[in-house]
Amino acid sequence: MSASLPLSRYHPDSLARWSIRAATETCACCKCNTGWIYTATFYTAYEVNGRFCPWCIADGSAAERFAGEFTDSYGLDGVSEDVLHEVTRCTLGFDAWQDPHWFVHCKDAAAFIGEVGSTELAAHAEALDQLRTDMRLDGWHHGSQLEHFLTHLGGGATAMLFRCTVCGAHLAYADAS
Ligand SMILES: [Zn+2]
Ligand SMILES: [Zn+2]
Repeated sequence: MSASLPLSRYHPDSLARWSIRAATETCACCKCNTGWIYTATFYTAYEVNGRFCPWCIADGSAAERFAGEFTDSYGLDGVSEDVLHEVTRCTLGFDAWQDPHWFVHCKDAAAFIGEVGSTELAAHAEALDQLRTDMRLDGWHHGSQLEHFLTHLGGGATAMLFRCTVCGAHLAYADAS
């Protein structure tokens, strides 16, 4: 059953872990009960009575019908219109404390891997280094505070982990309440 779930290149590990879950719920778009329902963000000016099944997200019908987006285009600079369309309108979004944003690497959108704590992040040294550098640029000049923050991810703050769809490099940004 789960093998037949439609998976986007940009959110490949969507098997109910982050943004969809098994549920007997009627999809607000196709009115079917597919057994799966999407639980994260959708931005639209219209009123939507209910949530969507992953199929109506993957084929773009939910986004088209309600003129909405699952992910804001913030951060998606320098990618083609097709990629922008696929990430914002045909790919599962994710919930975050702050407005979620997406990474671009090698001129393509990266794939969202998931929300991780410091242990998982430490397994991807390049992502940890990049996050540290970004946070310094962001104004975290106090080295020990920054290291404390990075080693305590998983509590009140987490990291959003992505992987480049071209070169495979991991990327992360910090999300906190
Ligand atoms: Zn549907
Ligand atoms: Zn890359």
